[in-house]
Amino acid sequence: MADAPLHVVELARLSDTGRVRDHNEDRAYAHDELVAVADGMGGAAAGEVAAQLAIRAIRQLTGPIDRASLRAALESANTAIRNTAESDPTKAGMGTTMTAVAVDDGTAQIVHVGDSRAYLWRDGRLRQLTDDHSVVGEMVRRGTITPEEALHHPHRNVITRALGADPAVEVDTSVEELRDGDVLLLCSDGLYTEVDEPEIAAALAGAASINVAARTLVDRANAAGGSDNVTVVLARIGYGPQVGADRPDPSGTTQEHPILEAPREAAAPAIGARVLEPVGGSRRRLSRTGLLVGAAVLVILLIVGGAWWAVLRSFTIQSSGGTVWVDQGIKLGPIDLTAPWQDTLVPTTAVQNGSSARTLGSVGGEGATVRSAVSLVWTDGMPQIPTLAAAGSTKTGG
Ligand code: MN
Repeated sequence: MADAPLHVVELARLSDTGRVRDHNEDRAYAHDELVAVADGMGGAAAGEVAAQLAIRAIRQLTGPIDRASLRAALESANTAIRNTAESDPTKAGMGTTMTAVAVDDGTAQIVHVGDSRAYLWRDGRLRQLTDDHSVVGEMVRRGTITPEEALHHPHRNVITRALGADPAVEVDTSVEELRDGDVLLLCSDGLYTEVDEPEIAAALAGAASINVAARTLVDRANAAGGSDNVTVVLARIGYGPQVGADRPDPSGTTQEHPILEAPREAAAPAIGARVLEPVGGSRRRLSRTGLLVGAAVLVILLIVGGAWWAVLRSFTIQSSGGTVWVDQGIKLGPIDLTAPWQDTLVPTTAVQNGSSARTLGSVGGEGATVRSAVSLVWTDGMPQIPTLAAAGSTKTGG
């Protein structure tokens, strides 16, 4: 290789909520010669807290950065995430992926946990530098399924390693010698599950700059469905001046938060969001003359609306076909008003194996209710089938 030092000469970073999720639990970092992507998971806002803690550990590194210091940062993030989760029950079970690359003297120092990815784009071709720590990633490596089958596998969201999952985290490390013109791509699964590798390579080859490439990749993920948060970090390697503090970074990458967010269509209203709010107390305002009719109408509305609300807002955990399902609806004696509603993709076996399964998988769909249902399963190891009803659903008119 040439003696002149290779540097990161251009950086781009873009994170987007996507078209389905209601908030972004991905976090990214790109500054000087250090890049990272974290894809958080957990109920409420916990996923983004976990991802943020991981990014913070990376960001606090100073001096020469190598695999050892990166690994130590991930291990301290693992501890920080677990401590935070322990002290705040609303964050129990939170976790995050982390893929980070430091470029040092023309060498990429890579650390990795989870199913986010680092790729090397060289001479128009894309090569994955990291192994996915996921159920399907391991099946692909064993040759049980093809990478194409992995993209549609029902357990494609189930990861086998995460920061925050266990007291000790196993961190993959590797090195890669870089060349002039190489581009490092770090991404969350929201990119590669929507955009296949030839298309990613084509977007990089056809872009006027890596900022344009980042925009194109995120747009394509959203055009393909945008089913998940999508995050892309790009670093171009060359002999030019290093990206640094001397000039403003055009991508604004010194901030921790996503800097560009695509305009997002309003999230689809949750099932049941349009039903009547409970109206307890309003009947006292009815006049005596209107009492008879008004009370009758109100009681009917309460019974019908309340029952409808209760059916729609009640969720039940079931094991079906090897994974944990959330069913919607209730059972009224012999009347079964439930229907399969959402596959959590959490394997039943993982749940029954105890607490290490807590951060396996991420849950899409109607946020809080499902997450709390699933966290109950995770917490209790499914000793029984809990029925969850959203607040306000107790007025069933009975
Ligand atoms: Mn994701």
